Amino acid sequence: MTWKIRRKVLRLIMESAKSSYPDEFGAFLRAKHGIIYEIVLLPGTLSGGRSVIYNLIAKPIDFTIVGSVHSHPSGFPIPSGADREMFARTGDVHIIVAHPFTMDSWMAYNRDSEQIEVKVID
Ligand SMILES: [Zn+2]
Repeated sequence: MTWKIRRKVLRLIMESAKSSYPDEFGAFLRAKHGIIYEIVLLPGTLSGGRSVIYNLIAKPIDFTIVGSVHSHPSGFPIPSGADREMFARTGDVHIIVAHPFTMDSWMAYNRDSEQIEVKVID
């Protein structure tokens, strides 16, 4: 199965990452029938530093949440060690968006931190 994401959700993610910059931005992804249609913000995930990752690990029990998204203000959408640990625990699809947060400065991974395709749809 190929995951899909609505263009307006990706746009909202990029806008949120820009407003959090130079701090990290993080949220969960909500999907229906393999289409990511919403981001779910948690209290406390908007502050800076590495704390965003640890907040994401504190996942609510909600089966519509399929994974996570967070930003890399550094500019490289490559998962860190802490990211890999979080991916393994918090779902099947994870997006990292990198500075400068354009519609193509992002990558997606599965829970094993292998790069996967997520198709942008309207
Ligand atoms: Zn990261």
